[in-house]
This record gives sequence, structure tokens and C-alpha cells, in this order.
Amino acid sequence: MGVCSKCGECCKWVSFIVNSVMSKDKRRYYELHNVKIIRLKRDQYQLLVPCVCSVLGKDNLCKIFKDRPYLCRDTSKRDNAYKHECCTDV
Ligand code: SF4
Repeated sequence: MGVCSKCGECCKWVSFIVNSVMSKDKRRYYELHNVKIIRLKRDQYQLLVPCVCSVLGKDNLCKIFKDRPYLCRDTSKRDNAYKHECCTDV
């Protein structure tokens, strides 16, 4: 388990894995919606949709920490977890 730097980035994006060809037009469409595109491997991409969680505090701490969803507790169980570059357990 790594050390959280409390950047809050993992609570500011919703992540999806897509398995398809990324055409220039599709890439442009996503980018116009401020979606980050990370290429994982050939024809597999992680899409990061900007979406700040409604219970993320201004201090980047979770307001419902003790009652947060399971997916927030152990991102290693999520194949689509967003790992920001400052996460030490990447
Ligand atoms: S519920 Fe808490 S830990 Fe989960 S995304 Fe929202 S702020 Fe982050």
C-alpha cells in the first residue's frame, strides 16, 4: 500500500476502459469534452472523464470517508482506477 499525497485526483475523474480503434475523429470528440485518453495497449484505452465527486471537500479529503464506496477503498480491485502520477503505489 502506497502513501496518499492527498492530491484528490482520484476523486476528480471517472474512468472507463474502451477496447476499440481510436480514430482521429473519435479522439477529437473526446478531447473536445476534456476527456483524457491514456493508451494502455493496442486498441485499448483508458478514458478519464472530468467529474469531481460531490462529497470531495475543498481540502481534497472525502467528507464521507468512513462510509465511502468500496471502489474508493481499494483501487487495486478496480481495473479502471485512475492512478495519478503522484500515487506511490502505481
Ligand atoms: S466518495 Fe470519497 S473517496 Fe470516493 S470519490 Fe468521492 S470523495 Fe473520493
